[in-house]
Amino acid sequence: MIVWLSVDMEGISGIVERSQLLPGELQYETGRKFLMSELHTVLAALKSEPDVSEIIVNDSHDGMVNLMWDQIPDGVRLISGGTKAWSMNQGTADADVGLFVGYHAKAGTAAAVMDHTYAGQIFRVRLNGREVGETGINAAVAGHFGVPIAMISGDDKLCLEAGELLPEAVTVMVKEGVSRNSAKLYSTSETSSRLASGVKDALARFRRSELKPFKVSNPAQWEITLMTADMADRAMYCPGMERVDGRTVSYQSSTVLEGFRAFYTVMALTSGRPLY
Ligand SMILES: [Zn+2]
Repeated sequence: MIVWLSVDMEGISGIVERSQLLPGELQYETGRKFLMSELHTVLAALKSEPDVSEIIVNDSHDGMVNLMWDQIPDGVRLISGGTKAWSMNQGTADADVGLFVGYHAKAGTAAAVMDHTYAGQIFRVRLNGREVGETGINAAVAGHFGVPIAMISGDDKLCLEAGELLPEAVTVMVKEGVSRNSAKLYSTSETSSRLASGVKDALARFRRSELKPFKVSNPAQWEITLMTADMADRAMYCPGMERVDGRTVSYQSSTVLEGFRAFYTVMALTSGRPLY
């Protein structure tokens, strides 16, 4: 069994705000320590399963050089670094099953630690009419390759979102969001035992064939609402993009991979501070 992990940072236990999340910020190295500790717990649980033949870890946060290569255990392969064609989804195509670790709720969720959808300028994403965040978008990319997502970990709001989207998967709540920049935290021993039993349960569900890859019907409609009308103007440079309203553009894709490319292109075109 080849297990693939997409590891983000906002949903790691102990992480509550921005200063812990970005290189150069005061608390980043502390945040990184929490990240590695949680990853080690998940990897140890995976390695104790006899039929796991390979573990691939994709660093999925910010510039994607957060995970410490020299602390990666034997037998685990780490995809480190950015500008990867499939971004948070790099490596999913090679897997039998996927896990999302340290994930966060979609943009606009109340009392969710660092809620967003890929980038700050994205107000909302609808995929075939359904509002999705990173969990939905990334599960759809995995689903394109027939890979089900077995476990998702993060705060309580992320678990609610993931539970609605992927009801067969295991959700592991490692903290409770109080506001965007605060959370109620549990001890490391409590979060570790939640994660370890989550991994065990997730793989058991996979073996029993209870998990379904998240499939998007094609052609698919990607409707992306930006923060400003100027951003939507810029998004229109992407071929095939259509204008819905002041802030919203839409794209019809024939495959999820094509749609993801269009979505990523919109992000690239709209980055930078709002112009006014
Ligand atoms: Zn992140």
